[in-house]
Order: sequence, then C-alpha cells, then structure tokens
Amino acid sequence: MRAIVLTRPHRVELVDDWPEPRPRPGEVVVGMRAVGLCGSDLGVYEGHRAVPELPWVMGHEGGGQIVATGDGVTDRVAGQRVVIEPNYSCFRCRWCREGVTSACAERGVVGMNLPGLLAERVAVPARFTWPVPESTPDTTLACVEPLAVARAAVRRAGVRAGDECLVVGAGSQGLLLCVALLAGDARPYVVEPLEGRLALAERIGAKRIDPGDAHGFPVVFDTAGVPATWQLALRAVAAAGTVVVIGMNGAPVSTSTMDLARRQLVIRGSLIYDHPTDFADTLAAVTGDELDPAQVLQRGVRPDEAADAFAKARAVPGKSWIDLSAWQEDRDG
Ligand SMILES: [Zn+2]
Ligand SMILES: [Zn+2]
Repeated sequence: MRAIVLTRPHRVELVDDWPEPRPRPGEVVVGMRAVGLCGSDLGVYEGHRAVPELPWVMGHEGGGQIVATGDGVTDRVAGQRVVIEPNYSCFRCRWCREGVTSACAERGVVGMNLPGLLAERVAVPARFTWPVPESTPDTTLACVEPLAVARAAVRRAGVRAGDECLVVGAGSQGLLLCVALLAGDARPYVVEPLEGRLALAERIGAKRIDPGDAHGFPVVFDTAGVPATWQLALRAVAAAGTVVVIGMNGAPVSTSTMDLARRQLVIRGSLIYDHPTDFADTLAAVTGDELDPAQVLQRGVRPDEAADAFAKARAVPGKSWIDLSAWQEDRDG
C-alpha cells in the first residue's frame, strides 16, 4: 500500500510498497482520509525528536473510515467514519486509574513511538477510534486532535467567560487555542512575529497585541516554550495569574522564587489531553457546530505534495494537512 515516509531528516518520500497493517484482536483498520501536521511532527522531520527507526511513517492527527475489524471488536463496524485518538494510555498505572492518562509513562504515541497515520491504512485499537457522523468533513478529521490539545489547556487553566487571555505564538496550536477560547466566550490576544499568522488570528476573532503592551493577563498560554517567550509570558501575566506552558524546548528558562512567590504565580504545564473526556467533549463541540476548527486550516495538499508541505510548515500561516482522500476513493472506485 501507499505511505508517506521519512527516510532521513528533512527527506519525505511517497512509497507504494509499505506493508499492509493487519488488525490484532481489539483493533480496527482505518483507511486514512486526512492527516494534520504539527510542531511535534516537524520535530521528527527535522531530526530533533528520535523515532524507533527509519524509514518512519509520521503523523498523529487524523481520521478516515474503518475498512476492517479485528477479532473481538463488537462496537465498531466497517464503513464508520472515525477520528483517531493517537495516545494509547495503559489503563493500569496510577495516573491512568486517576484519569490523568496524559501523565501515563507507558503511553503509546502514534507517529512517535508507534507508526504514524500518513499511510493508506493503519491499525488502531478500536477504543481509540471515535465514530463521527458521516457528514463530518475531512477537514474536521484533520484537526480534532490538536483542538483537543488546545481545549485541554483551556480547561486546565480554569479560564472563565470574559477572561482576557494572552496567546503567545499563532502557529497551529496558538490558532486553535484562540478558537477554543472564543468558543468559551473568553477574549484571546495574540503575540506573533509572522504577519500572515497574526492576520489569520484576527480573522478568527482574536486581537493582536504588541509584546511591549502585553501586561496584566490573568492567563497566558505559551505555545512556543522557548526562553524568549517564557520571559514574555512572565512579564505579561497578572499577579495571581497562570502561565500555561504548551510549547516544549530543551533550553533551560529562569525566574526568581521572589517573583513567583510575591506575585503568587501559577505555572502550569499542559500535555495533550486526558482519555476519554477531553476527546469526547471536543468531538461533541465540533460535531454540534459549537465551533469550527477548520478555519485555521490551509488548503489540503495531495500526497505527492507532502514533502513540500513538511518543508514549508514552519513558516506558512495556518495549519498544514495532507488530503489522503484520493487514496480511499481509488479503492472505493
Ligand atoms: Zn500534533
Ligand atoms: Zn498508564
């Protein structure tokens, strides 16, 4: 079957001899229709994030249609349209039992320590596929997962309606945070160096703000997580406010305990989402037309344009995604 694989850092190739997945008991096979790209994928693409082997199939944000079911699967059927939840928690550890599956150390992560979604077909544990209405567009399949990440960050921050929030960075996660905040009647302000991304954030309904004017925010989301944005976030947060760190970077950052204690700041890391509630809530919001995450997407690119999409994804405004629907229509036709 066909797949889009990373053969070495910065090199993405389209292959047609990738091994066909076989569903193990409890798994289904999904014919992939849409896969979004995010910063984590780009970390793999650029060679900053190690994967088990090369060539490697990347991608963890997406969905398609079930084409086969393995033994023991009774609650999913072929033909169902599904979104994939790409973090397979163990359900046995202390964190999983407490409902904080995002902290599970045994987590299988699609595209990182398990093969990714940029393939014609993938095998997925049935319980990590979420059926959606037949009418759900492919664009939605590509962005439910990163929207769940954004909504979990908003939930963990305790944002209330009317809160003015600062979003540092308007890459795809920053834009989806704006969508999530606006849906909850909060008021997002965005700091971002690229004009095209700022313009897109404004189109969605966020306001732009100059970094020098950003002060007094009860909640600040740092989607970049680099030393410069950490400093900006600490300057911009109000006393007794919360800084939510979403972007990740290995460089150490600093502050003083005096500043933290005197201003009574809360520093909150936020990683993915917790199974099953965050994904369930996000799907309910999307399929209930509460919000439309597709407004942050660019035009979907064909599989043969994937290499170009990876190369440009760091700089373009809006979220890049690969449209694999032609592969499924070949098969149906
Ligand atoms: Zn992602
Ligand atoms: Zn666990």
